Amino acid sequence: MGGFFGVISKNDCVPDLFYGTDYHSHLGTSRGGLAVKNGDGIQRHIHDITTTQFRSKFEFDIKQMHGRSGIGVISDYESQPLIIGSHLGVYAIVTVAAVSNLAELARGAFGNRATHFSEMSDLGINPTEVVATLINQGGSFAEGIQIAQQTVRGSCSILLLTDEGLYAARDRLGRTPVVIGAKEGAHAAAVESCSFPNLGYEVKRYLGPGEIVRLTPEGVEPVQAPGGRMQICAFLWVYFGFPASCYEGINVEEVRYRCGMALARRDNAQVDFIAGIPDSGTGHAIGYATQSGIPYRRPYVKYTPTWPRSFMPQDQAVRDLVARMKLIPIRSMIENKRILFCEDSIVRGTQLKDAIRIIYDYGAAEVHMRPACPPLVFGCKFLNFSRSKSELDLAGRKAILEIEGKASVDPADYINPDSDKHAAMVERIRQRMGLTSLKYQRLEDLVSAIGLPKDRLCTYCWDGAEHADW
Ligand code: SF4
Repeated sequence: MGGFFGVISKNDCVPDLFYGTDYHSHLGTSRGGLAVKNGDGIQRHIHDITTTQFRSKFEFDIKQMHGRSGIGVISDYESQPLIIGSHLGVYAIVTVAAVSNLAELARGAFGNRATHFSEMSDLGINPTEVVATLINQGGSFAEGIQIAQQTVRGSCSILLLTDEGLYAARDRLGRTPVVIGAKEGAHAAAVESCSFPNLGYEVKRYLGPGEIVRLTPEGVEPVQAPGGRMQICAFLWVYFGFPASCYEGINVEEVRYRCGMALARRDNAQVDFIAGIPDSGTGHAIGYATQSGIPYRRPYVKYTPTWPRSFMPQDQAVRDLVARMKLIPIRSMIENKRILFCEDSIVRGTQLKDAIRIIYDYGAAEVHMRPACPPLVFGCKFLNFSRSKSELDLAGRKAILEIEGKASVDPADYINPDSDKHAAMVERIRQRMGLTSLKYQRLEDLVSAIGLPKDRLCTYCWDGAEHADW
């Protein structure tokens, strides 16, 4: 998905920029980048972070960087920030975007023969550069950002580092969050509010969908008011987001507790203890254990010293290997036990299947699984959701394919959790995973655990509901 952090201050901003960006490391796997503005112009560094953490890659660079405003990004695909020379002046840009009409926009740009793209080093047109060409069509940064927001299909949140200050813009339907923080003499904009507390920032406010603001060290100036429609990604609370963060003022960990509690309220499993598949399953499991009164245990412990959550290589085989190496089972806690695991979701299910097999190998008597959201049957087309490349890889879709014997089936028939088809799909997944039992969260329980009206949330992955105007 990716994440960004920007700051503008009366003092040097580099330490805040460095650590603030680093707190977005769980959101991206490919590139990290920082840009700062000073009297010499814009200084920039970009590194490949596929095999090394962001912090270790930039430790040397930041000693040479100085400036009072800057932007940083953790990116799933493209190299960023880009430095753009335009009629608006020289500026730096980062985006958290999934530009689904990228080819069409590029073709449109080539129609104007004066336009070219120069950021081709990632073996394709850089989406952030395309967004910059849209911004450059405006008579001002405000107008240019509005053009980009109206033109991009998918989602596109933006930070611009300019002579006028720092522009922060949330994508038109607010699928991704942008939060503004403040401390004495400085303002910051981020995707993750968890980047603020240890840097001394207080949350000032959450930008609304499509809202644009300009930050200066002294304040936050409104540029474009928020739109009325919102489709924030519900999966942020289930899986993507960091537990200490809030979106729309709603904390991730608290939602996970409530998800676990909702699962327990509809369950009657007779087990010895509850466990979470680390990391994101942990909050759900604590909620389940609290509600059910069944003890919470950690039969799997994550080896955090060298396998942090942020290390998620793009290559699926390597990711599966990393996932296996990270989690270490404890035989004495597992042997002869009936264990109920809470998990954020079952996306493809391959890593989870390995984890379940290991639990059985270590002597578990029963393994029950309770995902905190319904089965995923529609591939995300609004964010760069790197956990699944193809819709047919999704565990729910694979099960439907097995049942129906063909891919050209409307998965909508399988969505109703009270239908026989849904039960058959879940049973297929249960058998493939080798589980004693499998029960998914109901969508209405997930929505109520988040606490926003359903029509303010994107729930497309589970029910295929989409806003006509995306
Ligand atoms: S489709 Fe799923 S992952 Fe994508 S924005 Fe919607 S809820 Fe989030």
